[in-house]
Amino acid sequence: MKKRIQSFFNSQLDSWSLAKNNYSALKAVKTKKFKIDGIDVYACHNPARISSSSASVDKDSVERRKCFLCKENLPPDQQYLTMGNLFFLLVNPFPLSPIHFTIVSKNHKKQTITDSMDKFIRFAADLEGMAVFYNGPDCGASAPDHLHFQAISKDMAPLLKQQRMILKRFGTTIYGNNNLQLQFVDSPVNWFYFIRFNDTHKGEKAFYILYNHLSSTAKHTKEPMLNIICIMENNYWDILLFPRKKHRPPQYYFKDERHYLFSPASAEMAGLCIFPLDKDFEKINKFDLRNMLNIVCTEKERLDEINNGLREELYGLDA
Ligand SMILES: [Zn+2]
Repeated sequence: MKKRIQSFFNSQLDSWSLAKNNYSALKAVKTKKFKIDGIDVYACHNPARISSSSASVDKDSVERRKCFLCKENLPPDQQYLTMGNLFFLLVNPFPLSPIHFTIVSKNHKKQTITDSMDKFIRFAADLEGMAVFYNGPDCGASAPDHLHFQAISKDMAPLLKQQRMILKRFGTTIYGNNNLQLQFVDSPVNWFYFIRFNDTHKGEKAFYILYNHLSSTAKHTKEPMLNIICIMENNYWDILLFPRKKHRPPQYYFKDERHYLFSPASAEMAGLCIFPLDKDFEKINKFDLRNMLNIVCTEKERLDEINNGLREELYGLDA
């Protein structure tokens, strides 16, 4: 990590007691490790994440509250570091990993990946080796009204640790050449697109082609529901894109013993599943976990159709 970013993180932990306490509490987070067909998935009991997991993100609730990502509303102890002309970096005071940043637009404007993919790719390079992620406005972003990304230590997410094995066992190549690969990965836990590139122009283009295919069949009038993770290492970028059909699993809304306060976003899609409530953590088993991670993903039948169109369009570019 760049020196100025590491020293910013250290100085915030020195001067901000809320952050300091929450980062040290992270060491005591209990974890259950499950194996689903050979794939690791972690359930973590992290009470500090309650406001994120249970955030009301409907239009009225969002309009009623003060935006917590606007600079003028930051707590007095929270500092920021400029990232280019348009964004700044914050230390996330409710961490998922030993280092956790939020990368925030300087302007209050809605959460959308449209027109921001180039910045997202650049932040992954600025935070080389970290998992930088984007949660769509209906897929786990707790501030759907203010454009932001987050970054966590990639080793915290089991899917990223097992990525090579998972791609080998469950990946199907849709397109591949020397500087761009696109795969569909049909894992038993969830399914996603994987894009690897070393030419950012080509990578961005492939992303928007995929994005347009997902948009064209989306019932949604806004952007297609998705979570995206981007990691840059050794001059290669990896993008994992999870197409979603539900914001939260039905279990979130049940009023009986089947209820779980579980709200999947990028971290959960990568196998780092946060349960803020003790009773849920005690109860969770691999069957419920797999069910809740499966049910929020876009139906595979729909993606099969998309994949055919995608293949044609990508190979058409070479012709
Ligand atoms: Zn704002």
